[in-house]
Amino acid sequence: MISIEENLKIINDKINNSILKSNRAEKSVKLLAVSKFHPVEEIIQAVDCNQFMFGENHVQEAKLKFPSILEYNKNVSLHMIGQLQTNKVKDITKICDCIQSVDRKKLICEIEKQCEKINKTIKILFEIHTGEESKSGFTDEKDFYEVINDFSDNKYPHIIPCGFMTMAPFTKDEKLIHNSFKKLRLFQEKIQKEYPEFDLSELSMGMSNDFEIAIEEGSTIVRVGTAIFGERNYNK
Ligand SMILES: *Cc1c(COP(=O)(O)O)cnc(C)c1O
Repeated sequence: MISIEENLKIINDKINNSILKSNRAEKSVKLLAVSKFHPVEEIIQAVDCNQFMFGENHVQEAKLKFPSILEYNKNVSLHMIGQLQTNKVKDITKICDCIQSVDRKKLICEIEKQCEKINKTIKILFEIHTGEESKSGFTDEKDFYEVINDFSDNKYPHIIPCGFMTMAPFTKDEKLIHNSFKKLRLFQEKIQKEYPEFDLSELSMGMSNDFEIAIEEGSTIVRVGTAIFGERNYNK
């Protein structure tokens, strides 16, 4: 039997140890519990252990699960971390606080449009491609600069850019994982200097298998699913 309470304790201890080891400030890393493919009852168990930040990948699934969880506890905050189609933006903006998987201008325009309609301000992270096999995230600096310049020109008043997100490659080669996270941190430092009008301090990087490496490299949000909830059953 998996104990979500036990797993959360173990992960939080590991996070704190990694923070200490890297000489970083206490509480400088937040845990995002990735609950995709896990049922509402298990998410509630985590909430009852004071875990309030959750991540989901699919709008359809989040839409079914999260209204009742948000009702259950007002401290719960949902982050969208999966690839997002523009026609799903309307549904997800209603229930989430942050969209971490923002990777193109078209998506940003749609988020602005939908948030304006419901008079909501939403946080986003820019997903940057730093080496994972999948093609998600900005790959072209020119595309990214076009978008951040739009923000500078105040074109998206309902969106607050808060930082960056990435996925490391699926590999056992720790050097490649370090490189991927380092790449995101260096990119953040560069952009933050060029755009001091924004607070781009969030770095969402690290999952069950590599979050300790990510913390060494400066992660502020680790996205952990399997190590909290157990293996996902994709056939359900
Ligand atoms: C599923 C997922 C995670 C969590 O992965 P685990 O290996 O289960 O910790 C983190 N980030 C993203 C973008 C994901 O899709």
